This record gives sequence, structure tokens and C-alpha cells, in this order.
Amino acid sequence: MRLKSIISCFAIITITATTSLNAAEKIFRAGAFAADITPIKLPVIVNGGMQERLADKVVDHLHARCLVLDDGEQQAAIVVVDSCMVPSDILDHAKEMASKATGIPTSNMLIASTHTHSAPSVFGALGSDVDKEYAAFLPGQIAKGIVNAHKRLQPAEIGWAMSPEPKNVFIRRFLMKEGTGKTNLFSGTKNDRAQMNPGYKNKNVLEPIGVPDTDVWVLALRSPAGKPIALLANYGTHYAGAPALSADYFGVFCELMTNRLPKADEDFVALMSNGTSGDTNCYDFRRPERRKFDRFTVAEDVAQAALKAYGKIEFQKWVPLVMHEEVISLRVRLADEAEVAKAKEYLKQFEGRKPKELDEIYARETVLMSELPPTRSLKLQALRLGDLGIGAIPNEVYSSTGLDIKKNSPLKATFVMELANGCFGYLSPPEQHKLGGYTCWRARSSCLEVDAEPKVRAKVLELLRKTTE
Ligand SMILES: [Zn+2]
Repeated sequence: MRLKSIISCFAIITITATTSLNAAEKIFRAGAFAADITPIKLPVIVNGGMQERLADKVVDHLHARCLVLDDGEQQAAIVVVDSCMVPSDILDHAKEMASKATGIPTSNMLIASTHTHSAPSVFGALGSDVDKEYAAFLPGQIAKGIVNAHKRLQPAEIGWAMSPEPKNVFIRRFLMKEGTGKTNLFSGTKNDRAQMNPGYKNKNVLEPIGVPDTDVWVLALRSPAGKPIALLANYGTHYAGAPALSADYFGVFCELMTNRLPKADEDFVALMSNGTSGDTNCYDFRRPERRKFDRFTVAEDVAQAALKAYGKIEFQKWVPLVMHEEVISLRVRLADEAEVAKAKEYLKQFEGRKPKELDEIYARETVLMSELPPTRSLKLQALRLGDLGIGAIPNEVYSSTGLDIKKNSPLKATFVMELANGCFGYLSPPEQHKLGGYTCWRARSSCLEVDAEPKVRAKVLELLRKTTE
């Protein structure tokens, strides 16, 4: 008995010594690069609003901010693109080019959009079409960014931490008094009880539907000498608003971090990813009037939180990198034949021009959707870096989904990047579909089956669990 315990004790010491020796030998590396994706030719079509816009000036430059990580066995790329949303075919093209040049498998590449509403359109949604020239330009620029980040791989220490920022994230869907919720002729919803952005002092407002996620997460990489290499942040509010073309608060945040992080120089790259902002924005409609904010104030507040979080980071010399990807097929909420026929008839009223009114926009969406396949293939991902998990979802995701993933993740810390690896519209949970409202109105930007959210959420959690096996 005694001998046995001595032997097992010796065995444990040996194993511990071997593991720590291996960990000491292992080198973690990181490389970052911000590729300029500002269009060369103007004007360009800008999407994100109900109606299409044209932009003919560059307010600030747009980037694909790329981070490549390497634990000695696996490499992964994380890219944040200054775009409202980028469809999977464009991203798959970029990934293939970058994979050929770097050897990183495409399944280890996570490319997400910031969801700035002041960038060239590469996805047709609501009143806006695709800017075809820009859509052809974008994938090559993203690929170049990944290749350059890969070239810059260097030994790195890694760490992460969170600090809350509740001043710029509010639920934008409100429960309305019966019969007062906004709707339109072709929404595919009935008796809408939810309304987005009801305005201030609206007497028909009952309460916000849900709770926002106020976390600002930062994942930081620095050289062994302590020089910052990159910082990836994550915050779940919609854009703040900027004249086109602009990277909105996401771009301002990156500039602030470059200026404020001690020892950061021109090689340092900051990335601000969008968390779960499908049902949130910067407005607080419970106040009597609009509080003052713009992309600069939002970026300032979020940067303050990010710097606070950065100060708490305990950097590690090496962590394991594990990434999993899976594609799931989901059905689409399609209009029936009678609705499509009615919508086609309605389109005749504004033949030869773009839609303007809500009914016109959704009539066009009804017809366009009827010409698309009845299913969509969504790429879901989970990336683990030590005790940190990152979930990636190709939708505009509600706060409740993100908070549930954070709560039920097997990892100590987790955050979710939305509009990643594609764009398949709002991911409204089934109970939210019952309430209707803008994010549930049937369109290419809100098209998935009513039961899509629980399926996506369960799969992301499953992938996160798989990274720990
Ligand atoms: Zn949006």
C-alpha cells in the first residue's frame, strides 16, 4: 500500500515535470495585418438602410483586420472586415486564396463583419443591391491581409479579460400595446406586438424585450518583450452611425487602441468585432430624449472598458489552439404562391425605380426570395485558445442567444462573433418570432425558419464542447 502510493506519487511528479517541460518548449506565435479595403472607384452602393444609398467620398478608410495565431501545431486566422455583411461565397473565395498561400485550412479561418452601415454593399438586402465591382475587389484584399498577417508571425504571449460597458448597448425591440406595433403588407407576420426603435416618449411602448450583453472582451497578443502585437475586442451593440464611407465606431476604436496601448507602434493591429447586436443599439428609448452620442463617443467609452480589461490580463506563454467548423442546413420562411403573386402585382406600381416605402421594399423581398433556394447552408465555428472560447455565427444574433452561449459554454470565458463566415439575416429566437417586428419581417436579411435559433445555439455549444475533448 505504502509502496504503491510512493510509486503513484513519483509517477505524478514525472508526468507534471514532462508536461511543464513541453509547455516551456512550445512557442505560441501571432501575426497581424490591416489590409486597406477602401474602394478604389467611387461612387459605390451602400447598404444597411431600408433604401439604397450612393457614397462618393471616403470619410475614413475601411480595413480587413487580420490576425493569424499559431500554437506550433495548429494555425488559425481571425479577420474582422469593415462591412455591413459579407456573404459566404465571397468569404469562401478569400479563404481559398489565403489558404493556398499560407497552408492554413479554410476551416480554421473565421471572417466576420463589423456591421458598419457606411460601407460598400456586397450583399443585396432590403432596398439595396450589390455593388458588383466592389464585390469582385473585396476577396483578394481580404486574402492579402491574411497572407501578410501570416508573414508577420512572431513569438507571442497571449491573454484575455473582460470589462463591462453598459452605456452604449440597449435592447431596441419593445413590446407595444396591442394593435400599435408597426407592420407592412408583405412582412409575413400578423398582429405584430414588437417594434424596433419605437422612438422617445412613445405612449404605446410597454417594455424592452430582453436584456443586453454589456461585455467588452479583449484578446491580446504581445511579444515576449511586452510590445503589443494585436488586440481583438468584442462588443454587442449595433453601429453608432457615420456618414459613408466609414468604419463607424469600430474604426475609431481601433485607432484609439493603437494610440493608447503602451508601446504599440504602427505594426500593431486592433480589431473590433461585433458581438450579438441583432436586437441592440446605442439608443436608450426609455429616456425622454436622445442622449448625445456618435461614433467617437461610443468608441471612446468602449476603448476605456477595453483598456480596463487589458490591465487585468494575465499573459500566458503558450496555450492550445483548437478549432472546429460544421455546416448546417436550415429551411427558409417562404411566402406562399398567393403572397408571391400579390407581391408581383404590387411591384408593377414602381416599375423602373428602386423601392422606397416599406410595402414596396418587402414586396420586392417576397419576389426575390421566391427565386432563391428553400434552404441555406450555415457555417458555424468554435475556436478555443486555452480557457477562452470564441463562437462564430453567420447571422445578426440576439443578445439572449449570446448570453446563453456564454452561460452554457464549457470554457471559463466565451464570446460570440456575429455575421461571421456569411450572412443569413437575423436569427430571431422562436419566442421572438411570435411577437413579430422588423427583425422578424420576412426578407433576405431575415429568412431562416422559426426554429433556426435553438439549432444554431445548440450546434455552437456542441462545437465549443468538442474543442475541449
Ligand atoms: Zn443592422
